[in-house]
Amino acid sequence: MELIRSISKMRDWSKSHRERGRKIAFVPTMGYFHDGHLALMKRASELGDKVVVSIFVNPTQFGPTEDFARYPRNLDRDIDLASSVGVDCIFYPEASEMYPEGFDTWVEVPGLAKGLCGASRPGHFRGVTTVVLKLFNIVAPHVAVFGQKDYQQLKIIQKMVRDLNIPVEIVPHPIVREPDGLAMSSRNTYLSAEERKSALCLYKALMRAKELYEGGVTSAKGLRQEVEEIIRSTPHTRIDYCFLGSGETLTEEEELGPGSVIALAVWVGKTRLIDNVLL
Ligand code: AMP
Repeated sequence: MELIRSISKMRDWSKSHRERGRKIAFVPTMGYFHDGHLALMKRASELGDKVVVSIFVNPTQFGPTEDFARYPRNLDRDIDLASSVGVDCIFYPEASEMYPEGFDTWVEVPGLAKGLCGASRPGHFRGVTTVVLKLFNIVAPHVAVFGQKDYQQLKIIQKMVRDLNIPVEIVPHPIVREPDGLAMSSRNTYLSAEERKSALCLYKALMRAKELYEGGVTSAKGLRQEVEEIIRSTPHTRIDYCFLGSGETLTEEEELGPGSVIALAVWVGKTRLIDNVLL
């Protein structure tokens, strides 16, 4: 497996594989891999002949009070894990090369980025779309895999690719969970043992809502009450948002139906966790 740090070397690598007719599959990440990341990489190796994974804790998608500085990082461990699932290349750029002095071009998908995480993290998705487009331009993949765990991010990337005619196929991957149901996340490492127990309330609340929905309860109001009650009765938690609405337009709905999504962001102690279920 190759580790590439410079943008020009990454471009050359992709160009030479494209010229040999190889299909390049790409997984953008912020590193500190867990089984969710590894599942995306395995999916990528089914989709392409060569798999590139980027590791970049992107400063422009973090707000000034967020966890950019303390976001977990461990490159050696990530290299071992990625090579164990057959990744061909890790692209690990420097922030100073990605954002040189004077950088000032941004990509925005304002409609889809307005609510949910976009409301609580102003500027977050502008940072995400900008860096993903830059990575697409550098890595030049044929296909890229994104997790449904970051559901709003996935919808925004799909829209950006459609609206800007970016020649990359976006492949969603289902949420990978711990055995008890907690969605895997690099941020789970922030949780104390007690908070880890509380963190399960996101999954529990979403599963309860899904069960009620499948039993015929479609009113967003009724489902919201159930979800919020489960979370409020769990220690160390504070709801950031509870969204019930269209999985396509990300606008709220009074009655849920096929294609609706329930998405949650919950503070557990000082850690903000997200999870969702598609109905
Ligand atoms: P991150 O490193 O957290 O930016 O995530 C990189 C990619 O992995 C994104 O496409 C995420 O949606 C995806 N991802 C992260 N956690 C999970 C998970 N538990 N299940 C599926 N995909 C995930």
